Amino acid sequence: MCVLVRYSTLERRPVWDADSLTITVPDGLLSSLTAIAVRAVLHQLGASQPEFGARCFCGETVDVTPRIPEQRRSQQVIHHGA
Ligand SMILES: [Zn+2]
Repeated sequence: MCVLVRYSTLERRPVWDADSLTITVPDGLLSSLTAIAVRAVLHQLGASQPEFGARCFCGETVDVTPRIPEQRRSQQVIHHGA
């Protein structure tokens, strides 16, 4: 099972959960900062990291793309105003 990345508005720093193999990062972080945070956690856990992106223990690339619910909401506001 591969490492998963979760986003939480309740966390102010990355949190590693060994039971669910989940790295929880603060929601709203810039995607570049999220990648750095995830890399740092994986590095501490002993997974060697590539030059770019983040890599699981098994060598698979970890998806650090955040969901962007805010953008969808602002588009609705624009549509409503037009
Ligand atoms: Zn994996």
